[in-house]
Amino acid sequence: MAQGVPFAREYGGMLANRSFGGVQVCRTFYAKGQTGQQLLLGAYSSLMKEVHNGTVELHTRTEIEDIVIIDGRCRGVIAKNLVTGKLERYGAHAVCLATGGYGNTYFLSTNAMGCNCTAAVQAYRKGAYFANPCFVQIHPTCIPVHGDKQSKLTLMSESLRNDGRIWVPKNLEDAKKLQRGEIQGRDIPEEDRDYYLERRYPAFGNLVPRDVASRAAKERTDAGYGVNNTGLAVFLDFSEAFQRLGRKRVDERYGNLFDMYQEITDVDPHENPMMIFPAIHYTMGGLWVDYELQTSIKGLFALGECNFSDHGANRLGASALMQGLSDGYFVIPYTMQNYLSDQIQVPHIDTNAPEFDEAEKGVQAEIDRIYNIKGDESVDSIHKKLYHIMWDYVGMARNEAGLKKALAMLKDIRKEFNEHVRIPGDKEGLNTELDKAIHLRDFITMGELIAYDALERNESCGGHFREESQTEDGEAKRDDEHYMYVACWQYPGQEEVPPTLLKEPLNYQYIKVQVRNYKK
Ligand SMILES: Cc1cc2nc3c(=O)[nH]c(=O)nc-3n(C[C@H](O)[C@H](O)[C@H](O)COP(=O)(O)OP(=O)(O)OC[C@H]3O[C@@H](n4cnc5c(N)ncnc54)[C@H](O)[C@@H]3O)c2cc1C
Repeated sequence: MAQGVPFAREYGGMLANRSFGGVQVCRTFYAKGQTGQQLLLGAYSSLMKEVHNGTVELHTRTEIEDIVIIDGRCRGVIAKNLVTGKLERYGAHAVCLATGGYGNTYFLSTNAMGCNCTAAVQAYRKGAYFANPCFVQIHPTCIPVHGDKQSKLTLMSESLRNDGRIWVPKNLEDAKKLQRGEIQGRDIPEEDRDYYLERRYPAFGNLVPRDVASRAAKERTDAGYGVNNTGLAVFLDFSEAFQRLGRKRVDERYGNLFDMYQEITDVDPHENPMMIFPAIHYTMGGLWVDYELQTSIKGLFALGECNFSDHGANRLGASALMQGLSDGYFVIPYTMQNYLSDQIQVPHIDTNAPEFDEAEKGVQAEIDRIYNIKGDESVDSIHKKLYHIMWDYVGMARNEAGLKKALAMLKDIRKEFNEHVRIPGDKEGLNTELDKAIHLRDFITMGELIAYDALERNESCGGHFREESQTEDGEAKRDDEHYMYVACWQYPGQEEVPPTLLKEPLNYQYIKVQVRNYKK
């Protein structure tokens, strides 16, 4: 609110609340069906106010390629000016990374196309631990993949599950007809619909947490009940809500989302149920940080989605905002002071120091190496292969054999990248393909980290589902006795060598750790 976000209000002026996945009470503030976008606009406006006041200097189209460590402390970064292609040096007493998550490792995700994990992975290469990389969130309500030319997926807000009901046909025959395009969702009578979330989870129904809803969709589509031409979609249906609340009321809540869906799919959700399918959305893992948000490298801090803290194995809806606020408003302004308190004697960081020379040389050498491969494959084509490995073997359900296969295939992908990638255009100046290639180099490393972590954690936990660890009715089964720790991965010094696992035990003093039950 202090940033000017127009949250919805009740008639009497109080902030309105609504429910979200994984909770049974209304406790989430919202702004129609576009909370995230309004937050972004609010944050941008506040940022620009600070820029105007001269307290923040913006370097747009600039990407951090490496961090610089002097005497064991992070003292700056090497950045690439994406317009000129030139490398720039920035010195600082401390560095905060707030460079987001690594969802785009999977190529298709709901993340913005520019999201990448280069800064975090480079920090990992320089000695920062990477924690719990296998905890990746797959969001159940995204517009399904429609072909192999797609480069991005669109999220349909979780708020839709407040009034929308998720179902597939009860009969395989109907599913086949839907897949062949012979009938539409609205043609299937009520008694032949399987509201599988309501059936399996009577207590939470359509508002089970994201991982549970995603896995349930996978279970139905794996069994052949998927509803679009690929068989990889389920229905999200508002017909009951239109009857119960009236079209006007429902449109007031979700009208902009219906418009967006119609613009993308050419299907009017008032006429026919929407089709949705799970997609990569958020990454709970990230750079390991302590309570002061400091990584294992002194003077290097990580904030927001880029760190591993707060969400454990499973982020609930709207709590990324909570983390952004707590990290940015309530933690770092205070903990940074602690760090800087004995740094007052340290003079201005000299970017001509040999450590800056060495880091810049390293970044330039990598750029030269990648540019000079001059192979025959585009960055996207290799990234799409990475996507298939990650989605098929390190996606919604994982098992030992699949993860081992993925790790072997990832080795081949790195080799393919190193021998075959082709960067058109010039090395100097603006070259988005070159920048994408740098990101891909790091997505491959990230993919391996996710797979190593997923293989090591032989339990199901939050967003990580190991098929070997499930109950008789297919629910995730945790193994607190053996896996009650944060898995911190340490870079072994070369890409081809498996990373080293360090375990930080989880010690709960004030709460009793329990398994949540969404059925009753
Ligand atoms: C479609 C969508 C809807 C969402 N809706 C909600 C919601 O309603 N509520 C909620 O709580 N959460 C929501 N989330 C999650 C939330 O938006 C993110 O978790 C949050 O934005 C993360 O903030 P961040 O500042 O840590 O990272 P980001 O917002 O990802 O920002 C990271 C920034 O760093 C830049 N960057 C990356 N690498 C480099 C580099 N090497 N050098 C320089 N800059 C770099 C990126 O370009 C980006 O600008 C949503 C996410 C998506 C994708």
